[in-house]
Amino acid sequence: MNWKTIHTLSRVRRYCLPHSLNKELGRALRPYKKIPGLTNINFSFTNLCAADCIYCPSQRGGGTARFMSRLSLETILKECRSRAFQKFHNIQIVSAGENGDIFLHKECLDFLRMIRRFLPGTKVQAYTNFRMFSPPLIDAVLGEGLLDFIGCNIDGADQESYFKVKRTDLGVVTSHLFYFLKKRRRLWKNIPLHIQVLTYHDYVKSVHNCLGVFPEKLQGQPPDTAVLKDDFPLIRAQFLPYLDHPKDKILRSAVIAWAERDQLKYPDEAACALDCPQLDRIEKEAFIAPDGTWYACCWDGKNELALGNVLKESFNEIYFGTKRRRLIESLKRREFALVGGPCAKIQCCQELKIPKASFSACPK
Ligand code: SF4
Ligand code: SF4
Repeated sequence: MNWKTIHTLSRVRRYCLPHSLNKELGRALRPYKKIPGLTNINFSFTNLCAADCIYCPSQRGGGTARFMSRLSLETILKECRSRAFQKFHNIQIVSAGENGDIFLHKECLDFLRMIRRFLPGTKVQAYTNFRMFSPPLIDAVLGEGLLDFIGCNIDGADQESYFKVKRTDLGVVTSHLFYFLKKRRRLWKNIPLHIQVLTYHDYVKSVHNCLGVFPEKLQGQPPDTAVLKDDFPLIRAQFLPYLDHPKDKILRSAVIAWAERDQLKYPDEAACALDCPQLDRIEKEAFIAPDGTWYACCWDGKNELALGNVLKESFNEIYFGTKRRRLIESLKRREFALVGGPCAKIQCCQELKIPKASFSACPK
């Protein structure tokens, strides 16, 4: 839509339409009026997690705070509602559960209610492993409509293969997951569930084939990668009958080796020709740690790329600040060694691929 159309529609709605229609049209036009600013905020309410995935760095979180406080969230959300913020940014998605499991936070429900209250009209989503997303929390989330989307990973078909990837109990996870699906159907709620699958086979084989090492968090003797079994088809067959189509999905997950940075050397010149795959997100999204640090990227587990702290400076100060601008320019110029931190091992930010022949066929 061009500016002239937006301007004409705005004038028409102001002078000619009844109040209720006027409000509706105003809301529909809002996204087109804004200059491109932030569209997403990703909150890490805690950087702790009940799982310990083989593909996730153990030392997540750089600040001292493990849990975000209610006061911090309230301060941040109040700013997001302010005129100065709204002038430049148009938040469409709030993600709760970045870099940790939201449901480990004892105030998680109150936090979701606060997001709904302060930012009505935004889509609220959460990624969880379902370990701590217990029936009372599921009842509240579904009953009050606190989330619009849920994502999770099921990385093994049985307890043994699941434990090898996630080091947590598959029985508890599946009982919570099936409770969620049953309750969602009973309440007629339209919250999509996306299940991603990153199996032991995919991860170990990709890391070994593409990077020439075994995963750092691998327990026991390194396996023979030639005989590893791919259990994606089994997992898919287990869950597919219980999912609603087309809103739910079960998909193979991309393999990213951000947990292997510590055991890899700095890349050679050929690797420096790689691109930062998160550049788009860095330009449009804010990642907020429990202590208010705005870190640049979701694969910066230790929050080394800190751009500022939203509890000490305003969002606009950080967004328009030199630090953020310089980081984006350096990433565009592929100066990864200069940026340092997680970017210095750029090879760990690329999707690793293994030959198609290694995968078993999926059941229809
Ligand atoms: S990938 Fe997610 S579920 Fe796994 S340990 Fe990391 S935060 Fe937890
Ligand atoms: S290069 Fe840096 S900013 Fe880009 S995805 Fe990797 S860690 Fe994130």
